[in-house]
Amino acid sequence: MQEYPFPLQLKRSARAKRLRLIVKVTGAECVMPAAFPEHRAWAFIHQHRDWLAVKYREAVAGVPPRTFWDDLANGHEMRLPIQGRSWPLHVTGCTGGRSRLRVAEESFELYLPERHKPDWKRLGERALFDWARGWLAERAGEWVRHHQGKASLRARDIRIKRMRTRWGSCGAYNDINLNWLLTFAPSSVLEYVVVHELCHIRHRDHSVRFWTLVGAHLPAYAAQRSWLKEHGRSLMYRFDVTGP
Ligand SMILES: [Zn+2]
Repeated sequence: MQEYPFPLQLKRSARAKRLRLIVKVTGAECVMPAAFPEHRAWAFIHQHRDWLAVKYREAVAGVPPRTFWDDLANGHEMRLPIQGRSWPLHVTGCTGGRSRLRVAEESFELYLPERHKPDWKRLGERALFDWARGWLAERAGEWVRHHQGKASLRARDIRIKRMRTRWGSCGAYNDINLNWLLTFAPSSVLEYVVVHELCHIRHRDHSVRFWTLVGAHLPAYAAQRSWLKEHGRSLMYRFDVTGP
């Protein structure tokens, strides 16, 4: 059997009347009638090998890589939008058993253990998350201090978490939880989410009074809300490590 530059499968089908070639992202399929001689199917595939290779390349190119972590695990050169500024991220395989992230001058160097290569997606996400937890907590803390004094809205703590559907929440004891992906949103969007959750300390709903309080802190908050509406979902999708 010859080697082809794409995954290949032969399938017999009781309903097939003749040979058929199908090309998908996952590879090529040759569907043949139940009693068709296999060597003739191979000859047919061989005859169409160039066409199959072109179609397979097209299929693969047309599909965007699933998530940021897929790209990262494939060793692509990456960039991260840290509060609206593009920071480069270089991934290097290393011999040790632990992953390391070096952050310097608005760039990242990520070292991932070569022997855990099948796990790079998860390890990369965890390294970035661990860094962002501290980094974002500091920036969020600045916004909390800036806004809480004026209205005596006292947050007990700020926690940076992985949240799959929300940007923030305010706990019963006034802990403010923030989605770590706000790291990749503009600073003004982080400010809006902080103000939103701070205002829940006073109003635990989304009543008119709640929105009036938000507006008193951030008169132009509508722009940040629509940023989240427009970009939020794709941000969550792009950085979701568990996949859809
Ligand atoms: Zn809310």
